[in-house]
Amino acid sequence: MPGFDADAGSTIAASRTGRTGALLMPVNVHTLTEQPSVFSNLIAEIRDVGTQQDRMRFRRNMERLGELFAYEISKTLDYHDKMVATPLGVSPCRVLAGQPVLATILRAGLPLHQGLLNIFDQAENAFISAYRKHHGDEDAFEVEIEYLSSPVLDDKVVILCDPMLATGSSMVLAYKALLQRGVPRHVHVVAVIASQQGVDFTLANLPENITLWLGAVDEQLTPRAYIMPGLGDAGDLAYGDKE
Ligand code: URA
Repeated sequence: MPGFDADAGSTIAASRTGRTGALLMPVNVHTLTEQPSVFSNLIAEIRDVGTQQDRMRFRRNMERLGELFAYEISKTLDYHDKMVATPLGVSPCRVLAGQPVLATILRAGLPLHQGLLNIFDQAENAFISAYRKHHGDEDAFEVEIEYLSSPVLDDKVVILCDPMLATGSSMVLAYKALLQRGVPRHVHVVAVIASQQGVDFTLANLPENITLWLGAVDEQLTPRAYIMPGLGDAGDLAYGDKE
């Protein structure tokens, strides 16, 4: 598959630092709660079972996190100089050389996607559907991708977001689905809460021209592959229970 090397990143193992519980991540992984900020406040709110009762607040907080991720990612993008006429003169400014393509996984990714789109407000957009196909009551499942809507992605910067990076398989399959529309120049993968297993799987199965932007990394997955402590089911919290 062009631009895709299944082994890329597999040698990058996360190792422990001297700090309690902190993991030393590869340079292409940024965990935004490592440094306390208003971002950490929002993470605390979306994890909190009390605040989660307010679905509108949950969605809006996801959106606000998307806006903050967008700001951080924007520092890595290309800009060009532009002279801008003000009512009083001319000001030298720097403006984005091009807009990224924003991609998300339905349905849980929608509020996070909206936050990114609030900042990259002229971006093109891609949507992928992924769901967990369980066989009966078994914990095991396969991720099924059924729908893709995307512009041409050749040489584009893509921001692919999903609030929860649990096993990493939805993210990797979504990335592979996007490759049907071309080979991006760079992919920024955004997840609000990740498991360490999901981070390792993603790094091992995506090529080197990706950057991971994470809110927080939790250590465990439940037998049904929910992140623990995590926050629960991000799709249900935003949009209500499903059958
Ligand atoms: N998806 C969710 O919504 N939550 C998890 O913990 C894992 C996957």
